[in-house]
Amino acid sequence: KDALLAVNDLRVKFRTENGVLPALQGISFQLKKGETVALVGESGCGKSVTSLAIMGLLSRSSTQMEGSIRFQGRELGKLGPKEMREIRGKEIAMIFQEPMTSLNPVHTIGKQLEEVYRLHTDLSKKERREQAIAMLKKVGVPRAEEIMREYPHQLSGGMKQRVMIAMAMACNPHLLIADEPTTALDVTIQAQILELMNDLKEKANTSLLLITHDLGVVAEMANRVLVMYYGEIVEEADVASLFTQPLHPYTAGLLRCIPDLDEEEKKRLDPIEGSVPLLGEVTEGCAFRFRCPLAMERCYLEKPPLSGQGTQAVRCWLYAKEEMAV
Ligand code: SF4
Ligand code: MG
Repeated sequence: KDALLAVNDLRVKFRTENGVLPALQGISFQLKKGETVALVGESGCGKSVTSLAIMGLLSRSSTQMEGSIRFQGRELGKLGPKEMREIRGKEIAMIFQEPMTSLNPVHTIGKQLEEVYRLHTDLSKKERREQAIAMLKKVGVPRAEEIMREYPHQLSGGMKQRVMIAMAMACNPHLLIADEPTTALDVTIQAQILELMNDLKEKANTSLLLITHDLGVVAEMANRVLVMYYGEIVEEADVASLFTQPLHPYTAGLLRCIPDLDEEEKKRLDPIEGSVPLLGEVTEGCAFRFRCPLAMERCYLEKPPLSGQGTQAVRCWLYAKEEMAV
């Protein structure tokens, strides 16, 4: 009952010209106050769909949603668009990979940042401006007063991402969702941005749902990890267990893909062959069986359940032996 966010059996289907396709097939997880949970997996596994569902940003006309998303005890699916808009940006904020999808190119940084305060606080115009400048300073933007007058295209990628973080953290949200927040940045800037996010979230005791395909970022940031494949959680573990004893063959494959500066390691770099199945392509068995080096006959016939072992749970027949015996 202590969860800030509790997602229960969330299912999302896309209505397309090729029929109704399953994008999320019943995912459940919780996020506690102050905790960082990483959602990992290749693109097309349902990570972004999960975050958009939580934010209430999936189009109602082209998607079908079932299951429950409880945030601070409120069922988000039951809220109207107006109530959801009030929560979004104030209690739940989001940072995207590409700042230009959220920064408006025709407005100055100052105007956009002040707008966050206008929407969600009772501050006066003067106070909004002061807060905006203070927030830019907090995220390490130099010459904050000048930057207030500039347009997004005048800033570097790293600076734009700092502005995004300033906008997201402006109202001290309880939950921050970051979707590939540093993927577009070079390694040095990436490390600075991650450190900044960690620092801000710790100060504000914000919970972070971090979406990434980069396990290096996960190791740096997360307390717990959810590995997603084909719209399902295939492994859930605390970060130490995941790195020391990954259970699911997909997790093991992802871990082998981490680039290492060590040349010897690099030679052993062993990406997972093949790709994530298209939505609707798998109707039975384990969705990973086409790429799994350990697939057995059973994997073709029956879908494995998520079975737990202490803090670690995995969806794979290799670990569901007791259930086989029953
Ligand atoms: Fe591989 Fe079978 Fe486990 Fe799926 S259930 S991950 S195919 S061993
Ligand atoms: Mg994505």
